[in-house]
Amino acid sequence: MINDPYSNAVKQLEEVAEILKLDKEVVSQLSKPKKFHQTKLEVKMDDGSSSEFQAYRSQHNDSVGPYKGGIRFHQDVTESEVKALSMWMSWKCSVVGIPYGGGKGGVIVNPKELSESELERLSRAYGKWMSGFVGSWIDVPAPDVNTNGQIMAWMLDEYEKAVGHHEPGVITGKPIELGGSLGREEATGLGAYYTLERLATEKKLDKASTSIAVQGFGNAAYWFSHFAYEAGYKIVALSDSRGGIHDPSGVDPAKVLEHKKKSGSVVGYEGSTEISNEDLLELEVEILAPAALENQITEENAGKIKAKYILEIANGPVTPEADEILYEAGIISLPDVLVNAGGVTVSYFEWVQNNMGYYWEKEEVFSKLKVIMDKAFLEVWEKMEELSINPRMAAYALSVSRVVKALKTRSSGN
Ligand code: NAD
Repeated sequence: MINDPYSNAVKQLEEVAEILKLDKEVVSQLSKPKKFHQTKLEVKMDDGSSSEFQAYRSQHNDSVGPYKGGIRFHQDVTESEVKALSMWMSWKCSVVGIPYGGGKGGVIVNPKELSESELERLSRAYGKWMSGFVGSWIDVPAPDVNTNGQIMAWMLDEYEKAVGHHEPGVITGKPIELGGSLGREEATGLGAYYTLERLATEKKLDKASTSIAVQGFGNAAYWFSHFAYEAGYKIVALSDSRGGIHDPSGVDPAKVLEHKKKSGSVVGYEGSTEISNEDLLELEVEILAPAALENQITEENAGKIKAKYILEIANGPVTPEADEILYEAGIISLPDVLVNAGGVTVSYFEWVQNNMGYYWEKEEVFSKLKVIMDKAFLEVWEKMEELSINPRMAAYALSVSRVVKALKTRSSGN
Protein backbone atom coordinates (compact mmCIF):
# COMPACT_ATOMS: atom_id res chain seq x y z
CA MET A 1 0.00 0.00 0.00
CA ILE A 2 1.31 3.49 -0.85
CA ASN A 3 2.39 5.53 2.14
CA ASP A 4 -0.05 8.35 1.53
CA PRO A 5 -2.84 8.52 4.12
CA TYR A 6 -5.54 9.75 1.77
CA SER A 7 -4.77 7.13 -0.93
CA ASN A 8 -4.78 4.48 1.81
CA ALA A 9 -8.16 5.65 3.09
CA VAL A 10 -9.63 5.58 -0.43
CA LYS A 11 -8.17 2.12 -1.03
CA GLN A 12 -9.75 0.82 2.17
CA LEU A 13 -13.08 2.32 1.15
CA GLU A 14 -12.84 0.60 -2.24
CA GLU A 15 -12.15 -2.74 -0.55
CA VAL A 16 -15.21 -2.35 1.66
CA ALA A 17 -17.26 -1.19 -1.33
CA GLU A 18 -16.46 -4.48 -3.02
CA ILE A 19 -17.64 -6.47 0.01
CA LEU A 20 -20.82 -4.39 0.23
CA LYS A 21 -21.29 -4.26 -3.56
CA LEU A 22 -21.73 -0.48 -3.51
CA ASP A 23 -22.35 1.42 -6.73
CA LYS A 24 -19.52 3.46 -8.20
CA GLU A 25 -21.33 6.76 -7.77
CA VAL A 26 -21.61 6.36 -4.00
CA VAL A 27 -17.98 5.27 -3.70
CA SER A 28 -16.85 8.27 -5.71
CA GLN A 29 -18.93 10.57 -3.50
CA LEU A 30 -17.45 9.10 -0.30
CA SER A 31 -13.92 9.08 -1.69
CA LYS A 32 -13.50 12.81 -1.22
CA PRO A 33 -14.52 15.32 1.43
CA LYS A 34 -17.80 17.08 0.76
CA LYS A 35 -16.10 20.36 1.67
CA PHE A 36 -12.47 21.24 2.17
CA HIS A 37 -11.41 24.57 3.68
CA GLN A 38 -7.91 25.97 3.76
CA THR A 39 -6.28 29.28 4.52
CA LYS A 40 -3.10 30.88 5.73
CA LEU A 41 -3.55 32.22 9.26
CA GLU A 42 -1.60 35.37 9.96
CA VAL A 43 -0.30 35.51 13.53
CA LYS A 44 1.57 38.28 15.31
CA MET A 45 4.72 36.94 16.95
CA ASP A 46 6.15 38.17 20.24
CA ASP A 47 8.99 40.01 18.50
CA GLY A 48 6.49 42.14 16.54
CA SER A 49 6.90 40.25 13.23
CA SER A 50 4.06 38.30 11.71
CA SER A 51 4.04 34.68 10.54
CA GLU A 52 1.71 32.71 8.32
CA PHE A 53 0.52 29.21 9.19
CA GLN A 54 -1.22 26.88 6.75
CA ALA A 55 -4.56 25.72 8.20
CA TYR A 56 -7.05 23.09 7.02
CA ARG A 57 -10.51 21.78 7.84
CA SER A 58 -11.86 18.79 5.98
CA GLN A 59 -15.59 17.99 6.15
CA HIS A 60 -15.92 14.48 4.81
CA ASN A 61 -19.58 13.56 5.02
CA ASP A 62 -22.55 14.84 7.01
CA SER A 63 -25.33 12.46 5.97
CA VAL A 64 -25.64 11.05 9.49
CA GLY A 65 -25.18 14.35 11.36
CA PRO A 66 -22.76 17.27 11.91
CA TYR A 67 -19.12 16.69 10.96
CA LYS A 68 -17.02 15.72 13.98
CA GLY A 69 -13.27 15.53 14.49
CA GLY A 70 -10.25 17.05 16.13
CA ILE A 71 -7.85 19.82 15.19
CA ARG A 72 -4.16 18.95 15.30
CA PHE A 73 -1.20 21.29 15.51
CA HIS A 74 1.85 19.56 14.06
CA GLN A 75 4.71 20.34 11.69
CA ASP A 76 3.94 17.21 9.63
CA VAL A 77 0.24 17.99 8.99
CA THR A 78 -0.60 17.63 5.29
CA GLU A 79 -3.71 18.08 3.18
CA SER A 80 -3.68 14.32 2.48
CA GLU A 81 -3.53 13.46 6.18
CA VAL A 82 -6.38 15.83 7.13
CA LYS A 83 -8.58 14.43 4.35
CA ALA A 84 -7.86 10.82 5.34
CA LEU A 85 -8.47 11.49 9.02
CA SER A 86 -11.81 13.13 8.23
CA MET A 87 -12.89 10.03 6.31
CA TRP A 88 -11.79 7.75 9.15
CA MET A 89 -13.82 9.92 11.56
CA SER A 90 -16.94 9.24 9.47
CA TRP A 91 -16.33 5.52 9.93
CA LYS A 92 -15.43 5.79 13.63
CA CYS A 93 -18.57 7.75 14.53
CA SER A 94 -20.69 5.29 12.58
CA VAL A 95 -19.12 2.17 14.13
CA VAL A 96 -20.34 3.31 17.54
CA GLY A 97 -23.59 4.63 16.08
CA ILE A 98 -23.29 8.24 17.24
CA PRO A 99 -25.08 10.82 15.07
CA TYR A 100 -22.11 12.48 13.42
CA GLY A 101 -20.26 12.57 10.15
CA GLY A 102 -16.49 12.92 9.87
CA GLY A 103 -14.32 16.02 9.99
CA LYS A 104 -10.73 16.89 10.82
CA GLY A 105 -8.65 20.03 11.07
CA GLY A 106 -4.98 20.81 11.19
CA VAL A 107 -2.37 23.54 11.23
CA ILE A 108 1.19 23.09 10.00
CA VAL A 109 3.09 24.29 13.07
CA ASN A 110 5.42 22.96 15.71
CA PRO A 111 3.63 24.35 18.78
CA LYS A 112 6.71 23.70 20.92
CA GLU A 113 8.41 26.54 19.05
CA LEU A 114 5.66 29.02 20.00
CA SER A 115 5.36 30.99 23.24
CA GLU A 116 2.09 30.63 25.20
CA SER A 117 0.81 33.96 23.85
CA GLU A 118 1.73 33.06 20.25
CA LEU A 119 -0.10 29.73 20.70
CA GLU A 120 -3.14 31.63 21.99
CA ARG A 121 -3.10 34.03 19.02
CA LEU A 122 -2.79 31.10 16.57
CA SER A 123 -5.67 29.23 18.25
CA ARG A 124 -7.82 32.36 18.26
CA ALA A 125 -7.05 32.96 14.57
CA TYR A 126 -8.18 29.39 13.80
CA GLY A 127 -11.32 29.86 15.94
CA LYS A 128 -12.23 33.06 14.13
CA TRP A 129 -11.59 31.51 10.71
CA MET A 130 -13.64 28.39 11.41
CA SER A 131 -16.61 30.40 12.70
CA GLY A 132 -17.56 30.83 9.04
CA PHE A 133 -18.17 27.10 8.51
CA VAL A 134 -18.61 25.26 11.83
CA GLY A 135 -21.51 25.27 14.30
CA SER A 136 -23.05 22.90 16.83
CA TRP A 137 -25.36 21.55 14.11
CA ILE A 138 -22.81 21.87 11.29
CA ASP A 139 -19.33 20.77 12.35
CA VAL A 140 -18.06 20.13 15.88
CA PRO A 141 -14.25 20.18 16.33
CA ALA A 142 -12.30 18.81 19.31
CA PRO A 143 -8.70 18.43 20.53
CA ASP A 144 -6.23 16.17 18.73
CA VAL A 145 -2.43 15.89 18.63
CA ASN A 146 -0.88 18.89 20.48
CA THR A 147 -4.19 20.65 21.17
CA ASN A 148 -6.04 20.62 24.49
CA GLY A 149 -8.88 22.06 26.57
CA GLN A 150 -7.29 25.51 26.83
CA ILE A 151 -6.93 25.72 23.03
CA MET A 152 -10.59 24.65 22.65
CA ALA A 153 -11.53 27.43 25.12
CA TRP A 154 -9.74 30.08 23.01
CA MET A 155 -11.38 28.80 19.85
CA LEU A 156 -14.82 28.71 21.49
CA ASP A 157 -14.33 32.26 22.71
CA GLU A 158 -13.54 33.50 19.18
CA TYR A 159 -16.44 31.56 17.69
CA GLU A 160 -18.92 32.98 20.22
CA LYS A 161 -17.63 36.52 19.61
CA ALA A 162 -18.17 36.02 15.88
CA VAL A 163 -21.72 34.63 16.14
CA GLY A 164 -22.77 36.83 19.07
CA HIS A 165 -24.22 34.16 21.35
CA HIS A 166 -23.19 31.30 23.63
CA GLU A 167 -22.90 27.98 21.88
CA PRO A 168 -20.77 25.55 23.91
CA GLY A 169 -21.79 22.61 21.69
CA VAL A 170 -19.73 23.98 18.80
CA ILE A 171 -16.58 22.38 20.18
CA THR A 172 -15.87 19.50 22.57
CA GLY A 173 -12.97 18.62 24.83
CA LYS A 174 -13.56 21.89 26.69
CA PRO A 175 -12.49 22.49 30.28
CA ILE A 176 -15.27 21.53 32.75
CA GLU A 177 -15.93 25.19 33.65
CA LEU A 178 -16.85 25.95 30.02
CA GLY A 179 -19.16 22.97 29.59
CA GLY A 180 -16.76 20.02 29.32
CA SER A 181 -18.05 16.58 30.34
CA LEU A 182 -17.05 14.68 33.44
CA GLY A 183 -15.38 11.41 32.47
CA ARG A 184 -13.78 12.70 29.26
CA GLU A 185 -10.31 12.18 30.70
CA GLU A 186 -10.91 8.46 31.33
CA ALA A 187 -13.12 7.92 28.25
CA THR A 188 -10.72 6.46 25.69
CA GLY A 189 -9.02 4.07 28.11
CA LEU A 190 -12.31 3.10 29.70
CA GLY A 191 -13.94 2.47 26.31
CA ALA A 192 -10.99 0.24 25.37
CA TYR A 193 -11.40 -1.58 28.67
CA TYR A 194 -15.09 -2.21 27.87
CA THR A 195 -14.05 -3.82 24.56
CA LEU A 196 -11.57 -5.98 26.50
CA GLU A 197 -14.41 -7.14 28.75
CA ARG A 198 -16.57 -8.09 25.75
CA LEU A 199 -13.66 -9.92 24.15
CA ALA A 200 -13.04 -11.78 27.42
CA THR A 201 -16.69 -12.85 27.48
CA GLU A 202 -16.63 -14.00 23.83
CA LYS A 203 -13.38 -15.91 24.28
CA LYS A 204 -14.03 -17.03 27.88
CA LEU A 205 -10.77 -15.53 29.15
CA ASP A 206 -9.87 -15.98 32.78
CA LYS A 207 -8.90 -12.51 34.05
CA ALA A 208 -6.26 -13.51 36.58
CA SER A 209 -4.32 -15.50 33.99
CA THR A 210 -4.82 -13.00 31.14
CA SER A 211 -1.57 -11.10 30.70
CA ILE A 212 -1.61 -7.73 28.97
CA ALA A 213 1.29 -5.71 27.52
CA VAL A 214 0.53 -2.03 26.90
CA GLN A 215 2.73 0.12 24.70
CA GLY A 216 2.59 3.70 25.97
CA PHE A 217 1.67 5.24 29.30
CA GLY A 218 -0.15 8.43 28.33
CA ASN A 219 -3.81 9.28 28.81
CA ALA A 220 -5.35 6.36 26.90
CA ALA A 221 -2.81 3.74 28.01
CA TYR A 222 -2.93 4.73 31.67
CA TRP A 223 -6.71 4.61 32.06
CA PHE A 224 -7.01 1.38 30.07
CA SER A 225 -4.38 -0.37 32.19
CA HIS A 226 -5.81 1.08 35.40
CA PHE A 227 -9.34 -0.23 34.74
CA ALA A 228 -8.03 -3.60 33.52
CA TYR A 229 -5.82 -3.97 36.62
CA GLU A 230 -8.70 -3.03 38.94
CA ALA A 231 -10.85 -5.69 37.25
CA GLY A 232 -8.20 -8.37 37.92
CA TYR A 233 -6.24 -8.63 34.65
CA LYS A 234 -2.45 -8.90 34.81
CA ILE A 235 -0.62 -5.87 33.38
CA VAL A 236 2.83 -7.31 32.67
CA ALA A 237 4.38 -4.54 30.57
CA LEU A 238 4.10 -0.78 30.05
CA SER A 239 6.29 1.75 28.23
CA ASP A 240 6.91 5.36 27.31
CA SER A 241 9.24 7.15 24.91
CA ARG A 242 12.23 6.33 27.16
CA GLY A 243 11.61 2.55 27.15
CA GLY A 244 9.51 -0.17 28.74
CA ILE A 245 9.15 -2.28 31.87
CA HIS A 246 8.31 -5.97 32.17
CA ASP A 247 7.18 -7.91 35.22
CA PRO A 248 5.51 -11.29 34.51
CA SER A 249 3.85 -11.20 37.94
CA GLY A 250 2.01 -7.98 37.03
CA VAL A 251 2.21 -4.31 38.08
CA ASP A 252 -0.28 -1.80 39.50
CA PRO A 253 -0.48 1.05 36.93
CA ALA A 254 -1.35 3.62 39.65
CA LYS A 255 1.93 2.80 41.42
CA VAL A 256 3.85 2.95 38.13
CA LEU A 257 2.32 6.39 37.55
CA GLU A 258 3.60 7.56 40.95
CA HIS A 259 7.07 6.31 39.97
CA LYS A 260 6.85 8.07 36.58
CA LYS A 261 5.79 11.34 38.22
CA LYS A 262 8.90 11.24 40.41
CA SER A 263 11.43 9.93 37.89
CA GLY A 264 10.04 11.08 34.54
CA SER A 265 9.65 7.56 33.11
CA VAL A 266 8.16 4.14 33.77
CA VAL A 267 11.70 2.75 33.40
CA GLY A 268 13.26 1.72 36.70
CA TYR A 269 9.97 0.73 38.35
CA GLU A 270 10.63 -1.52 41.35
CA GLY A 271 10.74 -5.25 40.58
CA SER A 272 10.54 -4.81 36.82
CA THR A 273 13.06 -5.54 34.06
CA GLU A 274 13.76 -2.88 31.46
CA ILE A 275 12.78 -3.74 27.90
CA SER A 276 12.65 -1.79 24.65
CA ASN A 277 9.41 -0.69 23.00
CA GLU A 278 10.16 -3.14 20.18
CA ASP A 279 10.63 -6.09 22.58
CA LEU A 280 7.41 -5.20 24.40
CA LEU A 281 5.46 -5.77 21.20
CA GLU A 282 6.90 -9.28 20.87
CA LEU A 283 6.26 -10.48 24.44
CA GLU A 284 4.49 -13.75 25.04
CA VAL A 285 1.21 -12.35 26.35
CA GLU A 286 -2.47 -12.98 25.86
CA ILE A 287 -3.26 -9.39 24.88
CA LEU A 288 -1.16 -6.66 23.31
CA ALA A 289 -2.47 -3.09 23.48
CA PRO A 290 -0.46 -0.60 21.39
CA ALA A 291 -1.53 2.75 22.88
CA ALA A 292 1.15 5.22 21.83
CA LEU A 293 2.00 5.72 18.17
CA GLU A 294 0.97 4.73 14.66
CA ASN A 295 2.78 2.13 12.48
CA GLN A 296 4.19 0.05 15.36
CA ILE A 297 3.28 -3.39 13.97
CA THR A 298 4.49 -3.62 10.40
CA GLU A 299 5.34 -6.38 7.92
CA GLU A 300 8.79 -6.53 9.58
CA ASN A 301 7.63 -7.52 13.07
CA ALA A 302 4.06 -8.85 12.52
CA GLY A 303 5.38 -12.42 12.17
CA LYS A 304 7.03 -12.14 15.60
CA ILE A 305 3.90 -11.11 17.53
CA LYS A 306 3.02 -13.77 20.11
CA ALA A 307 -0.10 -12.18 21.57
CA LYS A 308 -3.41 -13.89 20.74
CA TYR A 309 -5.34 -10.61 20.64
CA ILE A 310 -4.46 -7.02 19.80
CA LEU A 311 -6.45 -4.03 21.03
CA GLU A 312 -5.63 -0.99 18.91
CA ILE A 313 -5.92 1.83 21.41
CA ALA A 314 -3.65 4.13 19.39
CA ASN A 315 -4.74 5.33 15.97
CA GLY A 316 -3.25 3.22 13.18
CA PRO A 317 -0.71 1.16 15.18
CA VAL A 318 -0.98 -1.79 12.73
CA THR A 319 -0.13 -1.24 9.07
CA PRO A 320 -2.38 -2.80 6.38
CA GLU A 321 0.39 -5.25 5.41
CA ALA A 322 0.77 -6.34 9.04
CA ASP A 323 -2.99 -6.71 9.34
CA GLU A 324 -2.95 -9.45 6.70
CA ILE A 325 -0.06 -11.28 8.37
CA LEU A 326 -1.79 -11.20 11.78
CA TYR A 327 -5.09 -12.39 10.34
CA GLU A 328 -3.37 -15.31 8.57
CA ALA A 329 -1.66 -16.21 11.86
CA GLY A 330 -5.05 -16.32 13.61
CA ILE A 331 -4.34 -13.25 15.77
CA ILE A 332 -7.47 -11.19 16.35
CA SER A 333 -6.69 -7.48 16.05
CA LEU A 334 -9.56 -5.29 17.15
CA PRO A 335 -9.40 -2.03 15.16
CA ASP A 336 -8.83 1.52 16.41
CA VAL A 337 -12.18 2.77 15.03
CA LEU A 338 -13.86 0.51 17.59
CA VAL A 339 -11.38 0.24 20.47
CA ASN A 340 -10.57 3.95 20.92
CA ALA A 341 -14.05 5.26 20.07
CA GLY A 342 -14.75 5.91 23.77
CA GLY A 343 -13.12 9.31 23.32
CA VAL A 344 -15.40 10.55 20.56
CA THR A 345 -18.39 8.94 22.31
CA VAL A 346 -17.87 11.03 25.44
CA SER A 347 -17.30 14.07 23.19
CA TYR A 348 -20.75 13.28 21.84
CA PHE A 349 -22.07 13.15 25.44
CA GLU A 350 -20.46 16.55 26.04
CA TRP A 351 -22.30 17.98 23.02
CA VAL A 352 -25.59 16.40 24.17
CA GLN A 353 -25.18 17.95 27.64
CA ASN A 354 -24.27 21.34 26.11
CA ASN A 355 -27.35 21.26 23.89
CA MET A 356 -29.57 20.38 26.87
CA GLY A 357 -27.81 22.73 29.27
CA TYR A 358 -28.03 19.90 31.82
CA TYR A 359 -25.00 18.01 33.08
CA TRP A 360 -24.50 14.40 34.16
CA GLU A 361 -22.52 12.85 36.98
CA LYS A 362 -19.45 10.84 36.00
CA GLU A 363 -21.16 7.51 36.80
CA GLU A 364 -23.89 8.34 34.30
CA VAL A 365 -21.31 9.13 31.62
CA PHE A 366 -19.51 5.83 32.31
CA SER A 367 -22.66 3.71 32.20
CA LYS A 368 -23.87 5.35 28.98
CA LEU A 369 -20.42 4.78 27.45
CA LYS A 370 -20.60 1.09 28.36
CA VAL A 371 -23.94 0.67 26.58
CA ILE A 372 -22.52 2.16 23.37
CA MET A 373 -19.19 0.28 23.45
CA ASP A 374 -20.84 -3.07 24.21
CA LYS A 375 -23.32 -2.68 21.38
CA ALA A 376 -20.63 -1.63 18.89
CA PHE A 377 -18.39 -4.55 19.88
CA LEU A 378 -21.18 -7.08 19.38
CA GLU A 379 -22.17 -5.60 16.03
CA VAL A 380 -18.57 -5.70 14.74
CA TRP A 381 -18.12 -9.24 16.07
CA GLU A 382 -21.31 -10.42 14.38
CA LYS A 383 -20.31 -8.80 11.08
CA MET A 384 -16.88 -10.43 11.29
CA GLU A 385 -18.45 -13.87 11.74
CA GLU A 386 -21.18 -13.28 9.16
CA LEU A 387 -18.78 -12.21 6.39
CA SER A 388 -15.67 -14.15 7.53
CA ILE A 389 -13.49 -11.06 7.31
CA ASN A 390 -11.00 -9.50 9.71
CA PRO A 391 -12.37 -7.25 12.47
CA ARG A 392 -11.14 -4.04 10.79
CA MET A 393 -12.97 -4.82 7.56
CA ALA A 394 -16.00 -5.86 9.62
CA ALA A 395 -16.00 -2.49 11.43
CA TYR A 396 -15.64 -0.65 8.12
CA ALA A 397 -18.36 -2.73 6.49
CA LEU A 398 -20.70 -1.88 9.34
CA SER A 399 -19.93 1.83 9.37
CA VAL A 400 -19.72 2.43 5.64
CA SER A 401 -23.06 0.70 5.12
CA ARG A 402 -24.63 2.96 7.78
CA VAL A 403 -23.31 6.11 6.12
CA VAL A 404 -24.45 4.89 2.69
CA LYS A 405 -27.90 4.12 4.06
CA ALA A 406 -28.22 7.65 5.49
CA LEU A 407 -26.94 9.15 2.27
CA LYS A 408 -29.37 7.15 0.13
CA THR A 409 -32.33 7.80 2.43
CA ARG A 410 -31.70 11.54 2.08
CA SER A 411 -31.40 11.49 -1.69
CA SER A 412 -34.10 8.94 -2.57
CA GLY A 413 -36.91 10.43 -4.58
CA ASN A 414 -34.72 13.12 -6.17
P1 NAD B 1 -0.49 10.93 25.22
O1 NAD B 1 0.28 12.03 24.62
O2 NAD B 1 -1.18 11.14 26.51
O3 NAD B 1 0.47 9.66 25.43
C1 NAD B 1 1.31 9.18 24.43
C2 NAD B 1 2.18 8.08 25.05
O4 NAD B 1 3.03 7.56 24.04
C3 NAD B 1 3.08 8.54 26.18
O5 NAD B 1 3.14 7.57 27.17
C4 NAD B 1 4.44 8.65 25.50
O6 NAD B 1 5.51 8.47 26.41
C5 NAD B 1 4.35 7.49 24.54
N1 NAD B 1 5.33 7.59 23.47
C6 NAD B 1 5.71 8.68 22.77
N2 NAD B 1 6.69 8.37 21.90
C7 NAD B 1 6.91 7.05 22.06
C8 NAD B 1 7.78 6.13 21.44
N3 NAD B 1 8.65 6.51 20.50
N4 NAD B 1 7.70 4.84 21.83
C9 NAD B 1 6.83 4.46 22.80
N5 NAD B 1 6.00 5.27 23.41
C10 NAD B 1 6.04 6.55 23.04
O7 NAD B 1 -1.48 10.43 24.09
P2 NAD B 1 -2.88 9.68 24.22
O8 NAD B 1 -3.94 10.69 24.26
O9 NAD B 1 -2.81 8.64 25.27
O10 NAD B 1 -2.95 9.00 22.79
C11 NAD B 1 -2.28 7.78 22.50
C12 NAD B 1 -2.84 7.21 21.22
O11 NAD B 1 -4.23 7.01 21.37
C13 NAD B 1 -2.67 8.10 19.97
O12 NAD B 1 -2.52 7.28 18.85
C14 NAD B 1 -4.00 8.81 19.89
O13 NAD B 1 -4.30 9.24 18.58
C15 NAD B 1 -4.93 7.70 20.34
N6 NAD B 1 -6.21 8.21 20.81
C16 NAD B 1 -6.31 8.94 21.95
C17 NAD B 1 -7.54 9.43 22.34
C18 NAD B 1 -7.69 10.22 23.61
O14 NAD B 1 -8.83 10.58 23.91
N7 NAD B 1 -6.67 10.43 24.38
C19 NAD B 1 -8.69 9.17 21.57
C20 NAD B 1 -8.57 8.41 20.40
C21 NAD B 1 -7.31 7.94 20.04
